[in-house]
Amino acid sequence: MSNNPALYVTTNSIICLGFNMNIRKGDMVVVISGDDRGKQGRVLRIFPRSNRAIVERINLIKRHTKPRSGQQGGIIEKEASINISNLMPLCGKCNTRTRVGKRVLEDGRRVRICRKCGEMLGAA
Ligand SMILES: [Zn+2]
Repeated sequence: MSNNPALYVTTNSIICLGFNMNIRKGDMVVVISGDDRGKQGRVLRIFPRSNRAIVERINLIKRHTKPRSGQQGGIIEKEASINISNLMPLCGKCNTRTRVGKRVLEDGRRVRICRKCGEMLGAA
């Protein structure tokens, strides 16, 4: 890793062409395909190796549990992971799904920006 900002820019232009790898834990996202299409939620976990994420209240699966001592049995709804390519980041400012751009600040920090309104989406 280099601290040279110019190198960052070069690296960005190569890596960041990858579709939707710009989603981070804590982001608001919208589902663009599948049963939950159109739903929005916050990213709870990211699994970079499998390219999947768990999003709050998205892709819920029902788990049947047996009653145990102190715990009631029944059906528990739990989020299952969803492929990241089915998600798009949501910009809080323009309130629509957006593509993510990157910008290098003067101090060398990389931030993600909304391609539509230029609002910062958080640290890269
Ligand atoms: Zn925006």
